[in-house]
Amino acid sequence: MLKGVAASPGVAIGKAFLFYHEDVDLPHYTIDESKIDAEIARFQDAMKQTRRELLDIQKKSEEEMTEVHARIFQAHILLLEDPMFVDEIPIEIEKSRKNAEYIVKKVTDDLVDQLSKLQDEYLSGRTIDIHDVARRIIHNLLEKERLDLSTLSEEVIIIAQDLSPADTALMKKEYVLGFATNFGSRTSHTAIMARALEIPAVVGLGTITSEVKNGDLVIIDGSSGEVLVNPEESIIQSYISKQERFLEFERSLDVLRDLPAVTIDNHSIDLAGNIEIPEEIDSVLHHGANGIGLYRTEFIYIRQKEGIPSEEEQYQLYKDSAEKMAPNPVIIRTLDLGGDKFASQLQLSDDVDSMLGLRGIRLCLQRPDIFLPQLRAILRASAHGNIKIMFPMVSGIEEFRQAKALLDQAKKDLDQKEIPYKQDIEIGLMIEVPAAAMTSDILAREADFFSIGTNDLIQYSLAIHRGNQGITHLYEPLHPAVLRLIRYTIDAAHNAGIWIGMCGEMAGDPVMVPILLGMGLDELSMSPTAVPEVKKLIRSLTLKEAQEMTQKAFSLSTPWEIESYVYGETMKKFPELLTWISLRA
Ligand code: PEP
Ligand code: MG
Repeated sequence: MLKGVAASPGVAIGKAFLFYHEDVDLPHYTIDESKIDAEIARFQDAMKQTRRELLDIQKKSEEEMTEVHARIFQAHILLLEDPMFVDEIPIEIEKSRKNAEYIVKKVTDDLVDQLSKLQDEYLSGRTIDIHDVARRIIHNLLEKERLDLSTLSEEVIIIAQDLSPADTALMKKEYVLGFATNFGSRTSHTAIMARALEIPAVVGLGTITSEVKNGDLVIIDGSSGEVLVNPEESIIQSYISKQERFLEFERSLDVLRDLPAVTIDNHSIDLAGNIEIPEEIDSVLHHGANGIGLYRTEFIYIRQKEGIPSEEEQYQLYKDSAEKMAPNPVIIRTLDLGGDKFASQLQLSDDVDSMLGLRGIRLCLQRPDIFLPQLRAILRASAHGNIKIMFPMVSGIEEFRQAKALLDQAKKDLDQKEIPYKQDIEIGLMIEVPAAAMTSDILAREADFFSIGTNDLIQYSLAIHRGNQGITHLYEPLHPAVLRLIRYTIDAAHNAGIWIGMCGEMAGDPVMVPILLGMGLDELSMSPTAVPEVKKLIRSLTLKEAQEMTQKAFSLSTPWEIESYVYGETMKKFPELLTWISLRA
């Protein structure tokens, strides 16, 4: 058994399909002096063939896929013009007198190695593109049948180093039971894609591609992060029953899709989905959320090869999501780069990667050249649906006012060109810095809504880095300090007559739901797959019970006491909770 990162819940059992494994038997030989020119010509033919293929795929993607996918292949075509392919590889073939496929692999691997050492999210994204293009050229040199996931013809579990956006764009999804990859984290492309497509996945397994052969029977448990290779019959049976329980559990939640999130005593609350890529909108709709409570726009910037995504491109993406979700709301959060979210092509200041540095709104206020095109794109899209705008990482009223002043400037730009937008678009902000929580009464006078970002609020109030694996036990959503900040903010919002939601991970945790309801939140926004569970819990509670639990929780002193109490009470009322937790993890 191998253990990796549980990236997308569910159990998959099926035959392994090893993807990108040609380096195992990659030919390696010396070329006769007299045949060097012919070898270089062979390489150049393979390049031409690769270009033709990519143009074909790009055409197909323009017809059948999203603009994002089309851009991936456009980037691959551009990469073929790179001096590495055009000059360096032919020179290296001549110098070393080695066969072309070996040199393509060596030159591209060396570059990828150098880029990986820089530990930069943007550049590591580029390494995947370089691998993709090199793989196509090598296949053409070997004259193998095209290796991409569009040729799958039976159900398989894909085993790979990692999956690139190009791989998942071409993949025949109906044949993919699950993913298991050597690389990746919960926020890597493969993991986000697996969750968006609702395919069980385990990533970050390290050596899975060398432990598994094509056709091996593989079990993936995307809730626990376990992968089993050729297990005994009795183990297979136990996973079949876990898989059935999971599917049964999903089906039992399916019936909730069209029901409102309302308590037994008739108190309703809005449930919304968080998304990072447009592909996740289908999952938001499928799981019965009534809006998008957090559209994280960073990924649009992170996957950009150069500069920033254009206003037009962003407008199309935001407009599509507004149209798909209408009449339900889409809350677009403006760019929150920095901290754990990078886009190194923008060459921002050195401290942008610090959690305490120039991140989120601070960065945008310093860079109107980046911020204004996004604001104009959001405003333009607001003419096509129910869009609201939300600023991240605000720490006080001055920042909020400056952000609104830039929004006014964006409105003026559009007015001058007579471009329509929703004049009275709702403007809100995230409460994720303790200073904002403590001044929420002041902020509420000038905002239309708040959404509490607990991922950051917990980190900043407890001084615990949200990404530091070594101290996760100290990252306590139920710390009395965190609960007090949340309650204070909710009361401030309501006293000022505005609505308040929560879009951090805490909002999608069923154990937390009773006290979030009891504290009075108007909206909870979460990973789309969490919506049915949370809805079920809300529909089984009374607001009065939730308020009593909240009151008791506030009388306790330590995170552990609060957690034991909340967990125990919720379990008493919903014994299914344990099954939910074990199935979903
Ligand atoms: C948060 O901080 O809770 C939040 C939702 O924002 P992000 O996770 O994108 O920082
Ligand atoms: Mg945040």
